[in-house]
Amino acid sequence: MAKLEYIWLDGYKPTQSLRSKTKIVKDFGGTLEECPDWSFDGSSTEQALGGSSDCILRPVFICADPQRKDGYLVMCEVYAADGTPHESNGRATIQDDDNDFWFGFEQEYFLWDPKTNKPLGFPEGGYPAPQGPYYCSVGANNAFGREIVEEHLDVCLEAGLNVEGINAEVAAGQWEFQIFSKGAKDAGDQIWVARYLLERIGESYGVSINWHCKPLGTLDWNGSGMHANFSNTTLRTAASKEKFTAICESFRPVVAECIAVYGAHNEQRLTGKHETASIHDYSYGVSDRGASIRIPLYSVQKGWSGYLEDRRPNSAADPYKVASVIIKTVKSAKL
Ligand code: ADP
Ligand code: MN
Ligand code: MN
Ligand code: MN
Ligand code: MN
Repeated sequence: MAKLEYIWLDGYKPTQSLRSKTKIVKDFGGTLEECPDWSFDGSSTEQALGGSSDCILRPVFICADPQRKDGYLVMCEVYAADGTPHESNGRATIQDDDNDFWFGFEQEYFLWDPKTNKPLGFPEGGYPAPQGPYYCSVGANNAFGREIVEEHLDVCLEAGLNVEGINAEVAAGQWEFQIFSKGAKDAGDQIWVARYLLERIGESYGVSINWHCKPLGTLDWNGSGMHANFSNTTLRTAASKEKFTAICESFRPVVAECIAVYGAHNEQRLTGKHETASIHDYSYGVSDRGASIRIPLYSVQKGWSGYLEDRRPNSAADPYKVASVIIKTVKSAKL
């Protein structure tokens, strides 16, 4: 008997959350093709009204579930009963059928103690020492929750997710993992499955995952981003500063459209401080971590061929919707 965990995104606004339920299947060979459509009660997830509550789960990605005997994780898109993509289904809006777009997302998050309602490493009354020693730190004074982070990394790799690295971040209790994939939909699938695994591992430690982009509010602590590194054939083979500039310029007229899907409460994070650009500005620059879009030095050194980093998406953003708007925008560039 195989245990298939069907995972989907609910309809909550402004931030969608993960939902899942288990389907038991006999004689399962482990392929996506063998995963039937399923349904759920959309009236319990803000995706339908009680009178006609069924929504459809359509499997789109499968991997092993390393923490469960005979288990598989099955990422699904949500469809309405009439067979059209549900409005909460950002994946269905991605126009990258030939997988020409490569994405590397840098997912930041806080490990959060639900009892104190503070990050791990924060004393019950007051605050730890100011930011400075925590980024890429080692030692019990500065690195908090490493056993959770390590377990997550092992489980992701065992599931076959293409995690490229992890690091402790600037605030106490804040961490990051990076996932890269050649294909926008697959990159989004992998980020969501990695988030799912992190949430579930947190359960066993009594630690929750705080995806809010500025969980410590206006205090002098970094927020959490989900930088989107992206490229297509044009960028990878540009050999042209002009092409990079034209693609960066294509984002200027669509700032509001981008910000709308770059994660909730981003005005609290994109302040112009803490390695961010102001939400009111649009800028780009080589190696500039204070810009909206950074042109990595790597791309310049490769003779203006490579990738770009949009630094505006935040930790709570839906990578499907982020990829969707980036692809649409890059395709609109006047080269
Ligand atoms: P930093 O913290 O300096 O911004 P990271 O090393 O955390 O950088 O993340 C950089 C990301 O860029 C990695 O996830 C990597 O996979 C991704 N990346 C590298 N080359 C490309 C490319 N050609 N297209 C898309 N993403 C890329
Ligand atoms: Mn029931
Ligand atoms: Mn990084
Ligand atoms: Mn980071
Ligand atoms: Mn980055």
